[in-house]
Amino acid sequence: MVNPSIFRQYDIRGIVDKDLNEEALYLIGKAYGTYMLRKNKKTAVIGGDARASTRSYMDQAIRGMREVGMDVTDIGLVASPVMYFAIWKLETDGGLMITASHNPSEYNGIKMNIGLQSVYGPEIQEVLKLIQTEDYEKGEGTLSYHNIDKEYKDYIVNNIHLDRPVKVIVDGGNGMGGPYLPEILRRLGCEVVEMYCDPDGNFPNHHPDPTVEKNMRDLSAAVKASNAEVGLGLDGDADRIGVVDENGKMLYGDQILNIIVRDYLKDNPGERIIGDVKCSKNYFDDIKKYGGIPIMYKTGHANIKNKMFEEGIKVSGEMSGHVFLGDRYLGFDDGVYVCCRFVEIMSKMDKPVSRFLEDQPHMFNTPEMHVTSTDAEKFNVVDRVRKSFVDEGYDVNDIDGMRITFDDGWALCRASNTTPVLVLRFEAETEERLHEIQKLVEDRIAKLK
Ligand SMILES: [Zn+2]
Repeated sequence: MVNPSIFRQYDIRGIVDKDLNEEALYLIGKAYGTYMLRKNKKTAVIGGDARASTRSYMDQAIRGMREVGMDVTDIGLVASPVMYFAIWKLETDGGLMITASHNPSEYNGIKMNIGLQSVYGPEIQEVLKLIQTEDYEKGEGTLSYHNIDKEYKDYIVNNIHLDRPVKVIVDGGNGMGGPYLPEILRRLGCEVVEMYCDPDGNFPNHHPDPTVEKNMRDLSAAVKASNAEVGLGLDGDADRIGVVDENGKMLYGDQILNIIVRDYLKDNPGERIIGDVKCSKNYFDDIKKYGGIPIMYKTGHANIKNKMFEEGIKVSGEMSGHVFLGDRYLGFDDGVYVCCRFVEIMSKMDKPVSRFLEDQPHMFNTPEMHVTSTDAEKFNVVDRVRKSFVDEGYDVNDIDGMRITFDDGWALCRASNTTPVLVLRFEAETEERLHEIQKLVEDRIAKLK
């Protein structure tokens, strides 16, 4: 019927014509509609990215939703945050986005929303179960069309105030952010050079993931070759951002966050800020130093968004480039808006981006590393490794796998929610110590795997 393995932790994602086809989208539309109706939710928007299969998938999902009785508003091809914005602006009960985010062109997928929250974890399995048991509501829903682009752009332009024009290069990665970000920045007074800003679902220039260094090479070179002050990158559906400074050097997700958080804390001292377990020690220390309360939490955009809404936290983010701003904005991960806030901060600073965090201690760290495991075993392996360190008296945080804190560094070992791998990351004050910590944990994993 539909391959169950494409129903993942945070969304549905699969290979076009193998895991996903028009029939599957029709059934997913029916199941999502049924799931919503049984929670007394009756209206939804639907948008999609620029992949070749997206438009026909949207039409099938619409057919499915209407047949169970959902009233649907089609907002056309948009970025994911524009779909979230439409839920808020049009006051619908939820929304669907047909996208595979940064995945290559052979993929497509579905993000499901209930209100401004993601449908995720066990809730996604509930939607799958409705398909497996063919348990659908019956009804006759309506369909209307609404192009929300102008309202979205105007909203951001009215929200952001630059103290001076900033020279910016935008790499849209041929994703869905290109039709929005450059225009908004120009209206804010910026001088903007566009790279790969035409949506193209074949992603002819690079994979649309701005947290991977090789995808940012062209942007970095372009910034260096010009007198631009910053390079801004977006992922395929524009819910994540990447930044390169005026020297072409890439900032990590937690560094981007620290810059935004410092600015936020100036007017909001004492506020709590979430970061995921992959963030640097510097991230959490910096929040404290600038008067905030850091909270270390589980990786995963839906986890963090949910925790923020539950606890009334206004600013959070994760290493992967998801930044959530409920301060002056709507709280969801909007790469376009976050880029504009970043540029607003730049316009108020009297130094270049490369020096914003110059007072942070230099740490030695590894990028995110993966150890192959299986979906059946990965959580057990992490449990065994964690237990062994707890038994030996190490300082272990277990909110998401295992993060050991040392006086001079930390080690992370967690199971990926989306792929059959263990995710590792290490950081320390010296290179020697980094190797020591890394060896300690890697040897333990090899022994207990
Ligand atoms: Zn994305």
